[in-house]
Amino acid sequence: MALTLPAHPDPLAERLHASGLLHELAHGLGGGFHYLLPERFDANLAAFRAVLADTGVDGRVYYAKKANKAAAFVERCAATGAGVDVASLGELREALGHGVRGEDLVVTGPAKSEALLRIAALQGALIAVDALDELERVLHLDVPRPVRLLLRRHPPAQPRSRFGLDDDQLDAALSRCAAAGGRVRMEGFSFHLSGYEVRPRTDLAGELVDLCLKARALGLPADRISIGGGFAVDYVPADAWELFLAEQEPGHYHGGRTFTTGDFYPYHSPVAGADALRSILTGRPGGQGADLAERLREAGVTLLLEPGRALLDRAGSSVFVVQGVKDRAGYGIVTVDGTSLSLSEQWFNSEYLPEPVLLPRSPGQAAKEYRACVGGASCLDSDLLTWRKIPFPARPRVGDLLVYPNTAGYQMDSNESPFHDLPLPAKVVVQHEDGRPRWRLDRRPAL
Ligand SMILES: *Cc1c(COP(=O)(O)O)cnc(C)c1O
Repeated sequence: MALTLPAHPDPLAERLHASGLLHELAHGLGGGFHYLLPERFDANLAAFRAVLADTGVDGRVYYAKKANKAAAFVERCAATGAGVDVASLGELREALGHGVRGEDLVVTGPAKSEALLRIAALQGALIAVDALDELERVLHLDVPRPVRLLLRRHPPAQPRSRFGLDDDQLDAALSRCAAAGGRVRMEGFSFHLSGYEVRPRTDLAGELVDLCLKARALGLPADRISIGGGFAVDYVPADAWELFLAEQEPGHYHGGRTFTTGDFYPYHSPVAGADALRSILTGRPGGQGADLAERLREAGVTLLLEPGRALLDRAGSSVFVVQGVKDRAGYGIVTVDGTSLSLSEQWFNSEYLPEPVLLPRSPGQAAKEYRACVGGASCLDSDLLTWRKIPFPARPRVGDLLVYPNTAGYQMDSNESPFHDLPLPAKVVVQHEDGRPRWRLDRRPAL
């Protein structure tokens, strides 16, 4: 029997898929596209804020912009008073240009360019300083206001991380900030951990609260910490995921390709999104004493968080048009009018596993399971959107749509390029009014 990994059921998406609108859009736009659901972004943001309110923690959410290039999500940040985490001059411009105020930005990333530092400082953005030489450059910026900064902590539990300042460097940085007087406003500390575990975040956050107290003894304000992002997204149900991990083998993939379980994103997470924040806050740093929420309240420390992927959970999907179907021994190859550049997991030598949904152009296909991998419309043998032979409910036909679910977080546009002079897929914003889906382009085409 073929292994199957459909995404969690999503009634809003299912209604949209049944409405016929996606076929109209593919026709009107002349091919595949991504659709975005900003109402989901709002709901995810509200869930994070509800956890802060429930736990009595003063906190702020900054959307990590690198997770998606669309304007729609940054517009929602401006409208709802959320902050944005930017890491380049382009991202900073985008955020400001869509109405997010400079004070609501946090600037992360290593060794930031001179222009990024200067404009961030002029705009009153909070700069997460990653190294001592960067701190010197920040202290020498010629701007008429104190520069707001955080010191990024190198995570002791991830010694191979290239980010942040170690203990000695933090001591040196604190002295430097204290000596700089009114030129800087040292507001606290930050980290961003890879992986999705809760415990290391609770522990390191507790350490950062202590660092704030230490910095205050030097006369620095140190009243906030940022715990970065890395809130997991739960894409598929537990039972299907466990079965998949236990049984997947090269025979399930085109070309007998081998994936080991460690190659995959953890597509199922029992604790995800805002629930992960709750677990972080209700955990005890170092396994003892008060929980993190209480430590923050007692110390008067504001919690900043920078979710990217988790704010985009179910906030968009990628639609491809079937361009051809051919048979191989025991399975088929479906070719779509796009490339694997629109599913960036492929570029980490991995595979985006939540299964595409087949939306037939017209009814009448014999309902007989048909297993097929999905290739891109390029001349690269390795350009497959899905190597796995997916069990489709019927043999796809030219003109049918394949909808890859839940791709807004990092999948849809991180790696897109106009390879082969193929146009980049448009982004379509879908909003529901009185239950009816309405659409607009995420950006107006240039004249
Ligand atoms: C990438 C990144 C994030 C967002 O991570 P997610 O896994 O999308 O939540 C937040 N902060 C920093 C500093 C990052 O580099």
